[in-house]
Amino acid sequence: MPAPLYRIESSPQLPKEADVVVIGGGVAGVFSAYYLAQRGLKVALVEKGLVGAEQSSRNWGWCRQQNRDARELPMSTHSLTLWERFAEETGEDTGFRRCGLLYLSNDEAELEGWARWRDFARTVGVTTHMLNAEEAKTRGNATSRDWKGGVFSPTDGIADPSRAAPVVARAILKLGGTVHQMCAARGLELQAGKVSGVITEKGTIATKTVVLAGGAWASSFCHQLGIRFPQASTRSSILSVTPGAQGLPDALHTSEVSITSRGDGGYTLAISGRARVDPTLQMLRFSREFVPMFLKRRKSLAPGGLQGWKAGHESLRKWRVDAITPMEKNRILDPKVDQSQIDQTFSRALNLLPELRKTTIANSWAGYIDSTPDGVPAIGEVSGVPGLILAAGFSGHGFGIGPGAGHLVADLITGAKPIVDPVPYRPDRLNTSVWGKVAEF
Ligand SMILES: Cc1cc2nc3c(=O)[nH]c(=O)nc-3n(C[C@H](O)[C@H](O)[C@H](O)COP(=O)(O)OP(=O)(O)OC[C@H]3O[C@@H](n4cnc5c(N)ncnc54)[C@H](O)[C@@H]3O)c2cc1C
Repeated sequence: MPAPLYRIESSPQLPKEADVVVIGGGVAGVFSAYYLAQRGLKVALVEKGLVGAEQSSRNWGWCRQQNRDARELPMSTHSLTLWERFAEETGEDTGFRRCGLLYLSNDEAELEGWARWRDFARTVGVTTHMLNAEEAKTRGNATSRDWKGGVFSPTDGIADPSRAAPVVARAILKLGGTVHQMCAARGLELQAGKVSGVITEKGTIATKTVVLAGGAWASSFCHQLGIRFPQASTRSSILSVTPGAQGLPDALHTSEVSITSRGDGGYTLAISGRARVDPTLQMLRFSREFVPMFLKRRKSLAPGGLQGWKAGHESLRKWRVDAITPMEKNRILDPKVDQSQIDQTFSRALNLLPELRKTTIANSWAGYIDSTPDGVPAIGEVSGVPGLILAAGFSGHGFGIGPGAGHLVADLITGAKPIVDPVPYRPDRLNTSVWGKVAEF
């Protein structure tokens, strides 16, 4: 079942040319297009389905510095400011607020890990508070438990996944950009090896610069061009409950279950990291690279089924640009929920937070989470194809850093001083070291 999604209108006509074409209307694509349009560039965004309909509306909505890998922390800190600035600049409401994130635990090793992260974060000016048992009990009083400790990150927050990408897309329109939904990019036109256009199902847009922000579809799109982008997806299932529970934290993580307040007064419930692996040929192709990541996550991953294969997002088939492609056959990647995971999540949540017994399940959905082997996104120009900028592989934590990622894309394209050091994100790192360092958290 799709997650709740705010809908926006598309632009009436596909332009014949643009300074930049952005492929993909998730957070990475819309923020890239927004910052490019803000700098006066003529931008067209093409989305095969609806803006925000894949990962960007299916997530918890956490925008966090807490427990970020060192390589992503600067982008995460900037993103929190950019979420706020976006609302000021546009008057649009993404639902972003710095409500703070609460983590509770009874596991000494986990608490030590959080303390280590706190010490490191302090060195880069990020404040986070470790909680002793008493403080954890007070902050976590909605749970029916005692806790050994926890952590509270006061400057982190949440945004509304059902609104964020669509309202950013609306801001692109106000800046003179165009947004084209139900418009798949089938391929690129190259002249002398450089990008010269984007072939879509509705016609070709001449351009010298393309941003490929295609989420879980990015690797198969790259494959058409002979570009090797190691990427794998896991299927995660989550649920929302009806309004009615009082006095719960806005955002709480425990190893059993995590909750996040929703714009409609309900909550999103999930088990952190829990997912199914649906084997595909693409996964087989990159399996060697993903061994360290899958081993690290082995306790929370379970084997899936053939639906990933059937969905087509990890196809290794070469498609024709003058015929219907897998992207048009599957406008919105809407995988089947893992019902056992949903049942377990709800029952754990009722156990942990008795107040939730006043609610019922409103909705449940699943999403394919696309990852790189080292858990850090690939953002930057693809070597060998001048004009093609990749922005994908956000590895389960791309919603919160969407604004920073989009800003970096715009910086790289316009030659502005990059908002963060672009080196850790360079796509070519994924083809130079087989086993890079997997993200810490
Ligand atoms: C259950 C779950 C929980 C999560 N929780 C969090 C969280 O709390 N915090 C956090 O930061 N992150 C979280 N994430 C991860 C986060 O949602 C993603 O990292 C982020 O949304 C990725 O954004 P994206 O723009 O790269 O991809 P997407 O949102 O998937 O967007 C890609 C878009 O590209 C389009 N597309 C693909 N190919 C083409 C083409 N050829 N032509 C036109 N359009 C195309 C697709 O239709 C899609 O709309 C979670 C994800 C899931 C599934």
